[in-house]
Amino acid sequence: MTIRADVVVIGVGVAGLAAGLAAQRAGRSVVVLSKTAPRRGATATYYAQGGVAVVLPDTDDSVAAHVADTLAAGGGLCDADAVTSIVADGYRAVADLAAAGARFDTGPDGRWSLTREGGHHRRRIIHAGGDATGAEVQRALDHAAATLDIRARHTATALLHDGAQITGVAVLTPDGPDIVAAPSVILATGGLGHLYRATTNPDASTGDGVALALWAGAQAADLEFIQFHPTMLFDGAAGGRRPLITEALRGEGARLLDADGEPIMAGIHPLGDLAPRDVVAAAIDARLRATGADCAYLDARGVADVARRFPTVTALCVAIGVDPARQLIPVTPGAHYSCGGVSTDPYGRTTMPGLFAAGEVARTGMHGANRLASNSLLEGLVVGGRAGVAAAEHALSAGPATPGPETSAPRAAIDRAELQRVMSTEVSVLRDGPGLAAAAEKLDRARPLTPRTRRDFEDAALTTVAAAVVAAAAHRAESRGCHHRADFPDTDDGQAHSVPLRLDDTRDARVA
Ligand SMILES: Cc1cc2nc3c(=O)[nH]c(=O)nc-3n(C[C@H](O)[C@H](O)[C@H](O)COP(=O)(O)OP(=O)(O)OC[C@H]3O[C@@H](n4cnc5c(N)ncnc54)[C@H](O)[C@@H]3O)c2cc1C
Repeated sequence: MTIRADVVVIGVGVAGLAAGLAAQRAGRSVVVLSKTAPRRGATATYYAQGGVAVVLPDTDDSVAAHVADTLAAGGGLCDADAVTSIVADGYRAVADLAAAGARFDTGPDGRWSLTREGGHHRRRIIHAGGDATGAEVQRALDHAAATLDIRARHTATALLHDGAQITGVAVLTPDGPDIVAAPSVILATGGLGHLYRATTNPDASTGDGVALALWAGAQAADLEFIQFHPTMLFDGAAGGRRPLITEALRGEGARLLDADGEPIMAGIHPLGDLAPRDVVAAAIDARLRATGADCAYLDARGVADVARRFPTVTALCVAIGVDPARQLIPVTPGAHYSCGGVSTDPYGRTTMPGLFAAGEVARTGMHGANRLASNSLLEGLVVGGRAGVAAAEHALSAGPATPGPETSAPRAAIDRAELQRVMSTEVSVLRDGPGLAAAAEKLDRARPLTPRTRRDFEDAALTTVAAAVVAAAAHRAESRGCHHRADFPDTDDGQAHSVPLRLDDTRDARVA
C-alpha cells in the first residue's frame, strides 16, 4: 500500500520535528518516518547536554561576535553568509521553542542562565535541567509533534526520483517494504558516529541520510571533518554508544590532567582547557599515544556544586563508581559529530529538486572544518524550520508525485565490526596517506547485498559513507579543523575550500 503526503520527513530529532511542524503549519500534509521505536534516547538530540548557543537580546553579546567565534572554529571553511543567516535567526527559533513549552534554566533575575563552552568568547549557551538540554528540547518538540503523522519503525531505504526530481521514499516497515509518494523529502537522519567502534551517538546514527542522498545522485561535502569529542566517559567498555562528559564542565573550571596529574592543555592553546574541540582531542590523543595510558582525567573537584549543576554527568560517573566532587573522571576522545554532510543552502535545499536536508546530516556551511560547541541544536532548529517551509512551497508548486519503482543499483557492504575497526584505526583523530589507502582497499572489498532488514540497510549505508569519508580525507592533503593528517601536519592556504563528493558510475565516491 502506498502512503501519500506532500512532505515526507525522515527523522524525529530536533531537525526532523522542527521541519515537520513547519511544513504542517504551512498547510501541507506531512508524514514523518523514524526507524526506531518511540523511546527515550532514540535520537542524538535527546543526549545533548551542554546547551544551545544563541545570542540573547540585551546582553553584551552580538550576532557578529557569535559569527566570529563560529568562523574561527571552522578553520576557513565556513560559509560566512550561511553562518550569519543561521545565527541571526537563532533567538527567534529558540523563543518559538520556549513558547511551545521548552523550559530553559534561569538565574535569580528570571532570565535564561548562560554558560560558556570551548571556542566561545562569550557566555552564550542556554541550557535546561542543568546538563539535560537535549532531553528538554526533545520533550518539548515531541509534545508539539503530537499533531504529526509519525510512523515509527519505518526505515527509509532509498529516495525515489524520476531523474529530474524527487517522487518519494522507499521504506521498510514492520509489515515489509512500502513506498511513500511525495514531491518533497526532508532528510533529518542525524549523524554517522557508528562508523567508529566507540561513539557518543545513539544506535540510529549510521549515516543513512548521506548514503541515501549519494545513491540518489545528490552532492555531499566536507565529510572528512568528523569531530571527536575530547571527553567521552572512559568506562572500560569495548564499544558502541558511550556517555559524554559535557564541555560545559570545563566552562565551569574543570581541568584535563594526564595519568601523572600533569595539565594536558598547558601551553598548547591560548584558550587552554576551553580550546576548540579538535585541539583538545588531538592533545589528549597525543598524550595517550606518548604515555600508553588508556585514558586522561577531568578534574572537576573545584567546580562549585557540581552534583546540582551537572546532574546527568554526576549520575553517569556514579554509575561507574566515580564521585566527580571528590575524584577524577576518566575520559577519552570519541566519534561525536559530522561537520559535513549533504550539501545544502541555509534553507535546507540540496542539489536535487524536491530533496531537502537539515540537522547533522546536512552541510549548510555553518560548521566548516570544525563545529563550535552547541551550534548544532541551533542549526537543527533554524534550518529544520526553514527546510519545512521550503519543502512545503516546493510540494505546492510541484504537485502530487507519482513514483516509479526503486531503480537504485544493488548495494554493497562489509561486516560492520570490520568497518568500525578499520575506521577507528586508520580514519580516526589522526590520519595518514598509507592508513587511508589501506582503509579504501578494505572498503573496496565490499560484497553485493540486497538489504532485507534495517541492519542490512544500515551496513550498506555505513559502507558507502565510510568510502566517501576516506575519499575526502585522502583528497585533503593538509591538516585543518578536525581533520588531522600526520603526513601533512600544516594547513595549506591553497586547500581552503570544501571537498564536494558524488558517486560515480561505478558507485565509488569521487570528488565532484
Ligand atoms: C552525547 C551528545 C551530546 C551533544 N551535546 C550537544 C549540545 O550540548 N549542544 C548541541 O548543539 N549539540 C550537541 N550534540 C549534537 C546534537 O545533539 C546533534 O547534532 C543533533 O541533535 C542532531 O539532530 P538531528 O535532528 O539532526 O538528528 P537526531 O537527533 O540524531 O535524529 C535523527 C533521526 O533520524 C532517524 N533516522 C536515521 N536514519 C533513518 C532512516 N533511514 N529511516 C528513518 N529514520 C531514520 C533516527 O531514528 C532519528 O529519529 C550532542 C550530541 C551527542 C551525541
